[in-house]
Amino acid sequence: MQKSKILVTGGAGYIGSHTSLMLLEEGYEVVVLDNLINGSQEALRRVEHITGRPLTFIKGDIRDRACLDQLFSEHDIDAVIHFAGLKAVGESVGQPLAYYDTNLGGSLALCRAMQAAGVFRLVFSSSATVYGPDAPVPYHESMPRGGTSNPYGTSKSMVEKTLEDLSHSDERWSIVLLRYFNPIGAHPSGRLGEDPQGVPNNLLPYIAQVAVGRRPSLKVFGDDYATEDGTCVRDYLHVMDLAEGHVSALGRLSLPGTHVYNLGTGQGLSVLQMVEAFERISERPIPYQFAPRREGDLAAFWADPHKAQQELGWLARRGLDDMISDTWRWQRQNPHGYRTEINTTSHGAS
Ligand code: NAD
Ligand code: UDP
Repeated sequence: MQKSKILVTGGAGYIGSHTSLMLLEEGYEVVVLDNLINGSQEALRRVEHITGRPLTFIKGDIRDRACLDQLFSEHDIDAVIHFAGLKAVGESVGQPLAYYDTNLGGSLALCRAMQAAGVFRLVFSSSATVYGPDAPVPYHESMPRGGTSNPYGTSKSMVEKTLEDLSHSDERWSIVLLRYFNPIGAHPSGRLGEDPQGVPNNLLPYIAQVAVGRRPSLKVFGDDYATEDGTCVRDYLHVMDLAEGHVSALGRLSLPGTHVYNLGTGQGLSVLQMVEAFERISERPIPYQFAPRREGDLAAFWADPHKAQQELGWLARRGLDDMISDTWRWQRQNPHGYRTEINTTSHGAS
């Protein structure tokens, strides 16, 4: 039986492409809207190739109301998964207008277009950053949103609040806010993964580029935190688990109101533990130096993931070794991301 049609904004990006793949595998029809500012159409070609199913790609901007209206008039959309946005914390400090315009303005335009089209089911990409610096760990959904220290985090917090107000105003809305912890990893085929433009901000893409010889060494930001080895602790989860979380969240969209879930493993790992695991699995050295703390970094946080387990039936199933070996396979097979591809058939890709 044909399942419903899902609009995936930002579907050409890292998490969106993995989620689109999983939706196709689950039998959904997928329409991707992406302006390709940080996404790749090649990722979508590979999604179609891996799944053997077509998707519809529309190159457009979530802030473009005419584009959204046309999309909703041409496609019978059942629900929207909204990934599109800007996500670099440091960059957001220097470019607040761009971040509020895309993340907040884009979400407002999307909701207005949904409302006009009579589509009231939405899953939104939020972040653990909304808990703020003073929340005790593990983070639980019952904790209030905290003060955020940069425009990226503030934009996520503002969209969450807007969506709560929206669902209070009209009971037709059913909205799931997913607060991601630290997604890493790649599709096990090695054909789909994270392809940051320029110097990676995030730890795992940086380590992977050191391992593959694109960068000489890693800077470990801070060695004097109050953690076991002095480096920061995060809750890393596999992007395929995260993609499954979105499919599970669609099932929650029969209930009115706003529902919030952490998507994390519940386990914290330090920067040095990640470096050691990557060296062990890749069998490559990861040279590193300690550097000063990065502004805005918190010492340690991880999720309490029980609510998602109880209400969505979702649990992160993949462990650290899967996350790292999948990252490494992707990086080895695609040393320059989607811009080049080694013939994967001779490298044992499934
Ligand atoms: P990504 O940059 O790979 O994907 C975002 C996609 O949105 C890109 O393909 C980009 O081209 C597109 N996009 C950006 N602005 C757009 C616009 N105005 N109109 C249409 N498309 C636009 O990022 P990702 O890591 O896949 O993150 C997806 C979402 O998850 C983002 O909202 C991000 O803030 C959120 N998130 C990510 C993380 C993480 O660590 N990756 C953690 C928490 C939350
Ligand atoms: N980190 C690091 N070197 C890098 C990138 C990140 O030491 O080149 C550290 C960073 O200080 C943080 C952890 O790795 O403690 C995870 O950082 P990331 O940017 O991946 O995620 P986030 O800051 O969103 O938790």
